[in-house]
Amino acid sequence: MSASLYYANNMTLDLPRLEKKILKFWKKRKVFEKSLQKTRNKPGFVFFEGPPFANGLPGIHHLLARAFKDIILRYKTMRGFSVERRAGWDTHGLPTEMEAEKKLGIKSKKEIEKLGVSRFIKKCQSSVFTYKEEWEEFTERIGFWLDFKNAYITCDKNYIETLWWILKQIWQKRLLYEDYKVVPYCPRCGTSLSSHEVAQGYKRIKEKSIYVKLKVKNQKNTYLLAWTTTPWTLPGNVAVAVNPSFEYVKAKAGSELLILAEQRAKDFEVIEKIEGTKLLGLEYEPLYKFIKPQKKAYYVVGADFVSLEEGTGIVHIASAFGEEDMAVAKENDLPILMTVNGEGRFNPEIRNWAGMFVKEADPLIIEDLKKRKLLFKEEMYEHDYPFCWRCKTPLLYYAKNSWFIKITNVKKELIKNSQKINWEPDYIKKGRFGDWLKEVKDWNLSRERYWGTPLPIWLCQTGKNQNYCNNIKVIGSVGELEGLSGKKVKDLHRPYIDEISFKCEKCGGIMKRVPEVIDCWFDSGSMPFAQWHYPFEYEKKIDSRDVFPADFIAEGIDQTRGWFYTLLAVSTLLGKGAPYKNVICLGLVLDAKGQKMSKSRGNIIEPSEVMNKFGADCARFYFYTVNSVAEPKRFDFKDVQTLYRKFFDTFWQSHSFFKIYVSKKNPQSPYLPDKQANPEIQISGNVLDKWIVSRLEKVNAEVIENLDRYDVVSAARLFLDFVDDLSNWYIRRSRQRFKNSDKEAAQTLYYVLLKTTKLLAPFTPFFAEELYQELGGEKESVHLEDYPKPNKRLIDQKLEERMAQVRDITTLTLAQRAEAGIKVRQPLASLQIPSSKSQIPDEFLDLIKQETNVKKITFGREVRLDTKITKELEKEGREREWVRNVNKIRKKNGLTPNDIIIIDTTTDVADTEELKASIRAKEINVRKEMRGGEEIEINGEKHYIKIKKI
Ligand SMILES: [Zn+2]
Ligand SMILES: [Zn+2]
Repeated sequence: MSASLYYANNMTLDLPRLEKKILKFWKKRKVFEKSLQKTRNKPGFVFFEGPPFANGLPGIHHLLARAFKDIILRYKTMRGFSVERRAGWDTHGLPTEMEAEKKLGIKSKKEIEKLGVSRFIKKCQSSVFTYKEEWEEFTERIGFWLDFKNAYITCDKNYIETLWWILKQIWQKRLLYEDYKVVPYCPRCGTSLSSHEVAQGYKRIKEKSIYVKLKVKNQKNTYLLAWTTTPWTLPGNVAVAVNPSFEYVKAKAGSELLILAEQRAKDFEVIEKIEGTKLLGLEYEPLYKFIKPQKKAYYVVGADFVSLEEGTGIVHIASAFGEEDMAVAKENDLPILMTVNGEGRFNPEIRNWAGMFVKEADPLIIEDLKKRKLLFKEEMYEHDYPFCWRCKTPLLYYAKNSWFIKITNVKKELIKNSQKINWEPDYIKKGRFGDWLKEVKDWNLSRERYWGTPLPIWLCQTGKNQNYCNNIKVIGSVGELEGLSGKKVKDLHRPYIDEISFKCEKCGGIMKRVPEVIDCWFDSGSMPFAQWHYPFEYEKKIDSRDVFPADFIAEGIDQTRGWFYTLLAVSTLLGKGAPYKNVICLGLVLDAKGQKMSKSRGNIIEPSEVMNKFGADCARFYFYTVNSVAEPKRFDFKDVQTLYRKFFDTFWQSHSFFKIYVSKKNPQSPYLPDKQANPEIQISGNVLDKWIVSRLEKVNAEVIENLDRYDVVSAARLFLDFVDDLSNWYIRRSRQRFKNSDKEAAQTLYYVLLKTTKLLAPFTPFFAEELYQELGGEKESVHLEDYPKPNKRLIDQKLEERMAQVRDITTLTLAQRAEAGIKVRQPLASLQIPSSKSQIPDEFLDLIKQETNVKKITFGREVRLDTKITKELEKEGREREWVRNVNKIRKKNGLTPNDIIIIDTTTDVADTEELKASIRAKEINVRKEMRGGEEIEINGEKHYIKIKKI
């Protein structure tokens, strides 16, 4: 049956319009609040909301994450848990500072200092919530029920006080320290970054790598051949490293001799072999003499990290610009030549390129080496390079003082705690997340910036000639600071907090705060505690594990190196165990071609566009079903449209069919079930009724099973098949029963529609609400219902298997019809099916006969349709064609299935009672000629039909 047969025009599904109506309904009736009230005294289900920044607009990936959060929370609420959903806002750090810089039209730290830190901070503060309303509207529009009234905000005084308290705990455990290390550094933002921030910003790039010749002292024409991808670090060169366990060679290149690893010298004429150890201590002439080193430099040292995978087996060492370089320098007491300033520009001593940004100096340095005949070769090199996660500037590795958290000391606990977390999908646990934890580095916590949680470290620098007192005090609460300073501390932000000082208990001098603020990822990672102002308030709530750990969190896969990690890190540092029990990890949203969405590519898809076209529910359900949860999603409007048609429209039409033939709202309808969704429903003996109910109960059981495992995708996909079964088999094959006012069919369909609607409620909250209201559900809203439980005694596995066989046979038969070019309306004499199916009961065989329009089924070897059309069969076919046309005209004339008609026609049809009943006609008058009426065509001949309603 084509869908249009029971699809009246006024019943077209307009999901976006319907959703706006439902939003008003929820608001007016306070349905969200009522759903919370309903479960207030029930066991809790704890959810942590990963705080977004409200100074940028929500994107399509936020729709994805919020959809997955919402479905679990709605499901748990319907399962009888009390589910608080506190919103949160991330406010500090580079994301906000960058926005403020943009608004002020400035681009550097110098300009901020010139403007005044106080003015800059005010701008940050005011821009924190630029798009707060848009976020709230967006969240409401997609149907994510979130409590914005009690949102936690990371720049609140109480929130910061908890962060200070946590930092003091870490200090007391001797896990907070300052060190001079090579750290990833953003020259534009003027701050170092943590390894998890760096992990967010890798890009694949191509740049020049060069082979540099370093002239060996006192040996004629002999050079060490070193390889580097960062020419700008060459003026800072202090040594070269070889791996003592490798073999090296002296090789001929023109009139010169080059020293390099044997394995990297395949294209050379080898003159002499040298063991790696023999090279140690060999001196060479410096490439550049801009700075005179204070210690011995320019000789060969040994290092295990030197590999043979690329380069020459000889590595250039610039102690100030590489983590490994710094380690080698410390080990061999090499000098550190700092050639670059805080903006990534060469210092004045580097005369040739003073003031130039180092990456821009790369080609000039290459040119200079070429001129001096010290460049052996240059080639393009493709590799992953880190960029600043906020401003996209290439990062430099750079030696400087920073404050670190000694995460490496708690690595074991970190891994142990992570074992207790259930990941969806589970391979993330050992893979992406586990690998990250294995390689964990100390957390570079301090940022040389302005708008952030101030590092609560006060330092005494009283003393002369660098003989400072260096007494350190870490402050753990506002009260502690007020006690020491004797001042009321109103604001914890810079620059106000920088003015608060107190007396050093060691030397009587003045203690001042260090200038740094902290990594904003520490803010969000501390939210389980800071959102409650722990331990200053709600201490018991956390310690009795009422609101900690979270039962569930969900964010994008990038958060394995972000929030998922920092939550675990902070909780582990405090000795509180795993901070969440279950986590759903979501793939990236890409464009239809699989490319990242970006402004420059112009391929960004706005969530509002999707929701205006197809509705929030369709966008949600698309994400629930499109692919496995952590895989990248290639967002294609075509796919969303297909889902709209195949799933939403189909289910909507099933419901419309019910409305037309059974409608509860029709007072004359005799078909209403006695009890709505009665779990003890008396299922009729009809095989189709039994089958669709069995399918439903099984879907019910499996949805629960999957959602309890947080496998949303497997749960949601069950509905796709089910809706197809319901519409394209159950209703299609039961059509005549509905027309005949079969009460059992009506009751079954009602039961199935209502239960499916409840099952769908967490997935497609709007659509389910509309259907529930239309079906006249008992509660005020479907979201105040309990989640249905499966009626397992109604599941009949054998029946389902048989029906699957029937559908297979039908599909094969219809394919044979199509091949022979015979319409389904043309009856055929017989169909042969394999004798192995001879045990199929008659009622199933009847379904095959009806669906394939054959008179008889016989058993033979295979599915074979008898395609011969006798005169009698042809006449019957003509009659069916005619009936179809009559029904079409009925519908066109706006008649309902209940209207009775009189028919005039030129087609020679038999005036039987059966035929008249099938078109609800009182009389059929066959005429040789007719004036007027509708012209129709049957098997290429012209016929006329005239219909009159009586
Ligand atoms: Zn930056
Ligand atoms: Zn002191």
